[in-house]
Amino acid sequence: MDDILNTDIIIIGAGLTGLTTAMLLLKQGKSIKIIESRLRLGGRIYTLGFEVNQPIEMGATWLGYKHKHLYDFLNELDVEVFIQELGNNAIFEPISTSPPYLALMPANDEPSLRIKGGSTALIKSLADKVGIKNIHLSEKVLSISKSTNSISVTTDKATYQVEKVISTLPPNLLINTIKFNPELPDELKSVALATHTWMGDSIKVALSYSKPFWKNENSSGTILSNVGPVNEMYDHSNFEKNYYALKGFLNGSFFGISKIERKHMVLKQLKKYFGSVVEDYDNYFEQVWMHEGDTFCSYNEHVLPHQNNGHQIYQQTFLEDRLIIAGSETSPIYPGYMEGAVYSAKTVSNLLGTADS
Ligand SMILES: Cc1cc2nc3c(=O)[nH]c(=O)nc-3n(C[C@H](O)[C@H](O)[C@H](O)COP(=O)(O)OP(=O)(O)OC[C@H]3O[C@@H](n4cnc5c(N)ncnc54)[C@H](O)[C@@H]3O)c2cc1C
Repeated sequence: MDDILNTDIIIIGAGLTGLTTAMLLLKQGKSIKIIESRLRLGGRIYTLGFEVNQPIEMGATWLGYKHKHLYDFLNELDVEVFIQELGNNAIFEPISTSPPYLALMPANDEPSLRIKGGSTALIKSLADKVGIKNIHLSEKVLSISKSTNSISVTTDKATYQVEKVISTLPPNLLINTIKFNPELPDELKSVALATHTWMGDSIKVALSYSKPFWKNENSSGTILSNVGPVNEMYDHSNFEKNYYALKGFLNGSFFGISKIERKHMVLKQLKKYFGSVVEDYDNYFEQVWMHEGDTFCSYNEHVLPHQNNGHQIYQQTFLEDRLIIAGSETSPIYPGYMEGAVYSAKTVSNLLGTADS
């Protein structure tokens, strides 16, 4: 028996694409509901400490002025940005047999920007507009079937019949975790299974400190190391400069060891650059995205970064026009990035807006 959802359109996923799509479709007067498997909003946007203005980004962090759709959208929502502090120098470690040294940073024509308060500020602003009543959290979509006059979505809680379904899952995850009846076209399946999920295999690490010891003339919070295991690290203090942190990427191959082991490796590396002061951290944070089953799924073959991102097959609709495959990886513009997510949402809303006119 079908459960009542009172909606025409189901959007799967409350990440940036899902929430932006929902907001734009609600503006058009459409009836939508979002179904999200996690207990939280944001998907690959995930700011720890957001509520207390001690933001530590475990997911998306940086944008640029070139990300026009995202940048304009942030302005429209009154979500402010600030420039990522890089400093004039970087700690550079080109090779394991030579010691790291302080290198002059080239002038930066295109600064990286961060969102004030954390990237989750964008998610919060969108969620306020969409309304929590339109979002089902902690409900996982398991299967999708098309019948003559509708399409039905079965979750771990209910089955709903609607007019249209918009998926915002990374395509590889979609094909591996949701069953379709009838089956999706073979060409779509093979492209999706080889579509890279941007940053799905990354590990983020951060440490917070009561004092920013790296901010002085003979040091830097910018670390670029070919030796690792942390390859890049940056100052991650908040906009107000009253909460201090360093944050970077740990080589993704360390997903299989324990958190304690990873922390030990990070501290050992930082000790080389800064000395024993690194031991006086307040908190260690990490996020191993390969362990996140609502983001990452192993590939059947070797897939290169951004492979099949923005593939033209995602510009089609499926199951007789009732299924749209959206999400950052499907965008022809900056796929994989927040810009791609916003562009994808705009594309869907234009498509459904045009269908009405
Ligand atoms: C570590 C990391 C760093 C990044 N850094 C940057 C950066 O600096 N700049 C940048 O522009 N981008 C960055 N990105 C990429 C950026 O986060 C993504 O492009 C963007 O957030 C994708 O949004 P989305 O809504 O398309 O997908 P997602 O955020 O993946 O949303 C998909 C949603 O679907 C949900 N879901 C999954 N399965 C189901 C199911 N069966 N039923 C219901 N719901 C389901 C998920 O929980 C999730 O909320 C980074 C990503 C990561 C992981």
